[in-house]
Amino acid sequence: MDPVGVAAAVPPDAGPGPAWQGKCPWGAPSTTSISCSLADVMSEQLAKELQLEEENAAFPEVVAVAEGPFITGENVDTSSDLMLAQMLQMEFDREYDAQLRREEKKINGDSKVSISFENYRKVHPYDSDSSEDEVDWQDTRHDPYRADKPTTTPRRGFVGKGKDITTKHDEVVCGRKNTARMENFAPEFQVGDGIGMDLKLSNQVFNALKQHAYSEERRSARLHEKKEHSTAEKAVDPKTRLLLYKMVNAGTLETITGCISTGKESVVFHAYGGKSAAEDKVIPPECAIKVFKTTLNEFKNRDKYIKDDYRFKDRFSKLNPRKIIRMWAEKEMHNLARMQNAGIPCPEVVILKKHVLVMSFIGQDQVPAPKLKDVTLSSEDMKKAYHQVLNMMQQLYKECNLVHADLSEYNMLWHDGKVWLIDVSQSVEPTHPHGLEFLFRDCRNVSQFFQKGGVAEALNERELFNAVSGLNITADNEVDFLEEIETLEKMNEDHVQNQGKKLSMFSSDGDPPIYDE
Ligand code: ADP
Ligand code: MN
Repeated sequence: MDPVGVAAAVPPDAGPGPAWQGKCPWGAPSTTSISCSLADVMSEQLAKELQLEEENAAFPEVVAVAEGPFITGENVDTSSDLMLAQMLQMEFDREYDAQLRREEKKINGDSKVSISFENYRKVHPYDSDSSEDEVDWQDTRHDPYRADKPTTTPRRGFVGKGKDITTKHDEVVCGRKNTARMENFAPEFQVGDGIGMDLKLSNQVFNALKQHAYSEERRSARLHEKKEHSTAEKAVDPKTRLLLYKMVNAGTLETITGCISTGKESVVFHAYGGKSAAEDKVIPPECAIKVFKTTLNEFKNRDKYIKDDYRFKDRFSKLNPRKIIRMWAEKEMHNLARMQNAGIPCPEVVILKKHVLVMSFIGQDQVPAPKLKDVTLSSEDMKKAYHQVLNMMQQLYKECNLVHADLSEYNMLWHDGKVWLIDVSQSVEPTHPHGLEFLFRDCRNVSQFFQKGGVAEALNERELFNAVSGLNITADNEVDFLEEIETLEKMNEDHVQNQGKKLSMFSSDGDPPIYDE
């Protein structure tokens, strides 16, 4: 610390030194250097530093593994004991619940009157908030927001999570083996005297311990070569890491290799797919994990997309910000599913867990496909891309009943000789109160990009808008054009007001809305 700065921080009326110094019967003390002045101690800065230190002690950020993945089945970076404790607790709780269920079954047998142990079930703190609001739809074939299919999925009284794997292996034998295997952990890893006892560790608990032991080994090995914290490490909070850890643990993902992109609203990671945990799902060899950021500021200005989306209207008012963010992830999942159904090239949804969406990776060998803005296409490819994009916009509108609402060369990837659409969390149905304005903006981006790119036949934004929407707005300048768009939107709103329900705007399954009547 700068000593001059410290001196300057002392208020001028404090004099050259403390008052007692002059009167001290043993004379002035020799110039002891005061390492920390009162002003220093009192400073907010210091308080912050101490706070930070404390936090770091509780959640030490482990140095990035420069040479490899940061979460794999082999090496789960359990960088904090707290986290490990939570993971273990979770596994224990799960087993406890499973045991409870077995006992419940045994007691009830064939009896007509059954008793329930429901109240005795443990709910893990990290899971506790999920029981009421977690959206774990892995079945993307069912889009609960479809106009023709109102949500009828009954909410059951129980925490319907996962299958209890009733393993064929003998738990006792397996458990003993696991306990014995703990001996293989590094010597400095404290395993207690469990080895000597007849302790039976389940596979899950053993694996968690094993992973911790290994990561501890690696950690101490690389402690002195401190490197920059990786973006990947920093980008996710402990809760998200736990979610990712669970996915690796469940075998859905094999390895999470690192960060592809850090945006304002999301962080995207690359991962290698696992060996398919779910029965019928084939997990793509490479996956992209989109983590919607749980810091809320950036999402505030996106309210308009979702607040006015009738699909979410009933839910929006009741939701807290954390749930709203999950809704973005959910929205992206359903929108991707619609696009997939229409055959539009886009990532395929693998799994959704809270605010984490796993999808197929567009690219190869960890290298993401370039955005249209970054790739230099031959004029022939450029032309091809344009026609494909025009086609996709029409499909999106007519078949998926969607407007991308953030379509530009930033959200189109060039892969395998064609354009892939991504980033559809903000996409809305055309009847959204601002849906047509969003569409117009999309059209402007696309039109400008391809016109600048030298595609002679590229329609201008107004022509493109009509071509996509099937509307016939004749205004020949942007101001009038937009005015007509807003009139249409207004008409639609009034119609909704009169009918009371927006559903009436749809003639049948997934058809485009009727604007002109
Ligand atoms: P944001 O809202 O942050 O723009 P995006 O969905 O556009 O989120 O993702 C950010 C970036 O991550 C993209 O520009 C793209 O480079 C990369 N990306 C996203 N999804 C995938 C995917 N499925 N395959 C490959 N790269 C992807
Ligand atoms: Mn994007």
